[in-house]
Parts: sequence; structure tokens; C-alpha cells
Amino acid sequence: MDKMNEVLPISLARTKEEFIAIGASEIVREARECERITIEQQATVTHFKLAGYCSVCGAERDFIVDRQCGAQELEKGWIPNWRERLVCPVCGLNNRQRAAAVRLRDIVTKDTTENRRHIYLMEQVTPFFAWCNGTFGQERCLGSEYLGPGLKSGTTVNGIRHEDIEAMSFSDESFDVIVSNDVLEHVNRPRKALSEIWRVLTNNGHLIMTVPFGTDWDKNTTRAQIVDGDVLHYSEPIYHGNPVADEGSLVFTDFGWELMDWIKEAGFSDVAMAVYTNTSLGHLGGVQFFIEAAKEHILM
Ligand SMILES: [Zn+2]
Repeated sequence: MDKMNEVLPISLARTKEEFIAIGASEIVREARECERITIEQQATVTHFKLAGYCSVCGAERDFIVDRQCGAQELEKGWIPNWRERLVCPVCGLNNRQRAAAVRLRDIVTKDTTENRRHIYLMEQVTPFFAWCNGTFGQERCLGSEYLGPGLKSGTTVNGIRHEDIEAMSFSDESFDVIVSNDVLEHVNRPRKALSEIWRVLTNNGHLIMTVPFGTDWDKNTTRAQIVDGDVLHYSEPIYHGNPVADEGSLVFTDFGWELMDWIKEAGFSDVAMAVYTNTSLGHLGGVQFFIEAAKEHILM
């Protein structure tokens, strides 16, 4: 495959209407057709490999697709969780993480200023952080995990830094890029966290964020809240896997399009869905996207 594929083609959608239009595009139609054929062919197996080009590794890979992370069982066969699988066997990143990584690399390497970009990741014990550290160097990457309510942000426990993203220990304008991979849904006060992200970004700073998002939902829904130290559940509790907590992480908010307003209200000058669906790059699963926001400029 040619060099072109080392860059991930991204379409930006700033509104639900723009997002729907991209969903009807040829590239998404082609991906859905590939999914349909693949599901048919793989109906009887427990897992399979799908060939494609990993833009993170810069090489052809056989992406791993299995039933982890909630495959959908059909009468005949199954539909994998495309967003969470399609794992590259070499860099170890899944579908959405590969897209976020390539975008991050794009932003960082395009920067030609003297002061090289500093990156904060809301994760530290993950393949994504390991990739970032290996690619950009330790001196430019800082990662953290949320280790529990009793700790002060900035504390290190057994080599892992703790940060509560509602009250980070960093001074204003500390980072040029912040990567938040499926974190915001686990935060008690997501709007406070968004304000904190805005505060610690430099003026030309970028946010790259993945979050479970209901593209049919106009409003966000609060599932749970901490009030006076107690967790109040408004819906059946949902927990996601957490590499530093066996019990998983509670989902506090289901996000819909209102999240885009919250990001703007936190101070960001521009916010968009970055749609990255692409069959040859192993980005299947209908309209796949992450959120990108700019502190003081317009996204390109
Ligand atoms: Zn890879």
C-alpha cells in the first residue's frame, strides 16, 4: 500500500446534520458493506483476523477481532464491538485508539515551533500511553490514572500518578495536547472536568477525546451523581473496565449532542466530531469518530 495511507483521512462534523451527511458518504457505505460481508463469512468462528494497514505502525497488519467488549449475538452469527476491537497485534491499539494516536502524531509532528509539544494523557498503565511515551519521549508525555477519592491530585503511588480531572494539580496552560480516551463518562462533574481541561491547555492547545456517544441523542443524561459523598443512581449502574480498579468504573453520564455545547461553554473556540471510518485502515463500525476541540483556534 502507498504512503498516502500513513495519514488518516478525517472528516469534521460540527453539527448533527453534518454528521448525518458524512454517514451517508461513499466511504461509510463501503465500510458497512465490508462489515456485512465479514460478519456473514465469520458467523461460526469465535474470533478472526482482518487484514488492513495500521497507520500507527505504518505497516500491513492482521487486526484481531473477537467477542470481547460486548459482541452482539445474532440468530446466525455475531457482530463484534468494532469500536473496541480491530486490535493491532503489534502496537496493541484498538480501532478508536489507533485513530486518536494517528491524529495526535499528526498534531505533534506538524508543530515546527522551538518549544516542542507537551502531551497529557488521562491514562498511564495502557498500551496507548506506552506508544505515546515511545514515540514522543518521556520528557514530552505525562500520564495519570484516577486512583480513588482519598488522594490529592499529583500524588504518585507505586509509580502511578493520580489526578482527579475535576481538580487537576497542573498550573494553567501546561499542555499543548490533551488526550482523554473514554474517561469523561466516568467523572462526577463532567462540566467541571471540561473547564479544567481548558484551563491547563496552552492557548493553541488541542483536546482529542473519545467518549461513548449516542449519536441519536440530543441531550446528555446523568446516570449517577455523587452528593455529599454518596453515589446516587438515577439509572441501572453501568461499569466499564478499568486497568487500575478491579470493580471497574461507574458511568456517570450518557453523552449526546449536548456534549458539544458543554465543550463550547467550557471555553473552547471550536469543537467537532472527527469521523475516521476507513475500510483499508481497519476503521470499521459504521460512522466511527472521536471528538476534537481547540482552545483558541479553528480546527482544520
Ligand atoms: Zn499497529
